[in-house]
Amino acid sequence: MKVLVAVKRVIDFNVKVRVKPDGSGVETANVKMSMNPFDEIGVEEALRLKEKGAATEVVAVSLGVQACQETIRTALAMGADRGIHVLTDVELQPLAVAKLLAAVVKKENPGLVILGKQAIDDDCNQTGQMLAALLGWSQGTFASKVAVNAGDLAVTREVDGGLESVALKLPAVVTTDLRLNEPRYASLPNIMKAKKKPIEALTPDALGVDPAPRLKLVKVEEPAKRQAGQKVKSVAELVDKLRNEAKVI
Ligand code: AMP
Repeated sequence: MKVLVAVKRVIDFNVKVRVKPDGSGVETANVKMSMNPFDEIGVEEALRLKEKGAATEVVAVSLGVQACQETIRTALAMGADRGIHVLTDVELQPLAVAKLLAAVVKKENPGLVILGKQAIDDDCNQTGQMLAALLGWSQGTFASKVAVNAGDLAVTREVDGGLESVALKLPAVVTTDLRLNEPRYASLPNIMKAKKKPIEALTPDALGVDPAPRLKLVKVEEPAKRQAGQKVKSVAELVDKLRNEAKVI
């Protein structure tokens, strides 16, 4: 079974994100970019399926600007076999990503597609679900455990109040939750080896998909600044401040 893993290039999770002064988006110039953390978990899971003999090939796919190739190289250094890069400078929204991934799926015929449950930049949590709908495939979202059993996929999902177990018919789409696994670090020899692994270059045109945005971004704002806390000496002082300053009691 071939496994396709979607890997998105996002602002590194350690970076303090800054809003552009004109409110048109966030600063990305000279900002450290990395693989979306949920996609690292996706790559790790695909590699574990291959190591267990349940998968034969792991293909990492990224969509976007030229620099997305770095994200694909990271997946290759972790152990993915090859990469696919769909090159576009258009700002991609989840529906466009899902359509492009669906076109790649038609070309590659994988048995399983793994995505992150959400990208930490747009927090949309939409792409996996849209992809499953476009393909007419089963989906197991927010997966915290995945096991392949003879043509079926057992997925444990983290839901409010506990764990839900679903059995999916393959081919299927799975989106990863935080506790699915702990991604491996790429070793230096594997980083060197990854430089020689192939990355196929595609375009939305070649895939017959129009990636133009459908939603208009109106404005991006910083969250309101939190005021510094105060230390009080007694419960009476606390009650007084809550009543007369904060006016919440
Ligand atoms: P979202 O629906 O935007 O929160 O993204 C969910 C998942 O879709 C991500 O974790 C990725 O696996 C995948 N994805 C979204 N955008 C891209 C992209 N440009 N390239 C590759 N994968 C993507």
